[in-house]
Amino acid sequence: MESIEKQCTQCKVRRPLSDFPTFKSDPSRTCKACNLCRSAIEKYRAKNRDSILSKRRSPEEKAKTRALSQSYLIANREKIVAYKREWRRRNPDKCRAEWKNFYARHPDRCKEKSDRWRRENLSHCLERERRRRAKIANVTVGDVEAIRTFYAMVRSESPIPCHWCGKKTKKGDREVDHIIPVSRGGPHAVENLCCACWKCNNTKRAKLPEEFCGQYEIAYPVGASQ
Ligand SMILES: [Zn+2]
Ligand SMILES: [Zn+2]
Repeated sequence: MESIEKQCTQCKVRRPLSDFPTFKSDPSRTCKACNLCRSAIEKYRAKNRDSILSKRRSPEEKAKTRALSQSYLIANREKIVAYKREWRRRNPDKCRAEWKNFYARHPDRCKEKSDRWRRENLSHCLERERRRRAKIANVTVGDVEAIRTFYAMVRSESPIPCHWCGKKTKKGDREVDHIIPVSRGGPHAVENLCCACWKCNNTKRAKLPEEFCGQYEIAYPVGASQ
């Protein structure tokens, strides 16, 4: 049975639930403090904004907050993981935008993480690459000499713009990518090859260009190596 009354943690008065503000994130839950106490708290905060903020910025307060949030994280780990998973499932677009933003801010950390993942899951990666090569062996292969030239160009020192995002890439930060993935029937031919930065290559994977590059202008003319 859901109670229709509860006690305010501030004034200790029992009041009907309608006298309590609800959470923005979950309107079925009510706050601990009643409407009256809540507005008093907000008034106090507005009046003493500067002193509250400066107190909050002190090292002791920061350490306290950190310890509190850490113990909360540890105690509620499963709940948080489930909540995050559900949020990601419901907000795929926001999720993608957040990832893009993160990639843009921390390219080195992302590269480091994907390199580490590869090292730790090497056999999985090698197996994936083996399957990819096997598929390549099964699809149309274009002029071998042209393919070799293309690979050599990508391995050279010269800066080459990424086919997808247009950013200049350095040697070691880029890969040869199939514009139409081999797994989706694209030929292993120079007309279907491009140079992609590791980030685009990692996010594109087996997507078709129209599934991946709506947000990018294709900046690099295909087969411009000749
Ligand atoms: Zn109250
Ligand atoms: Zn790119």
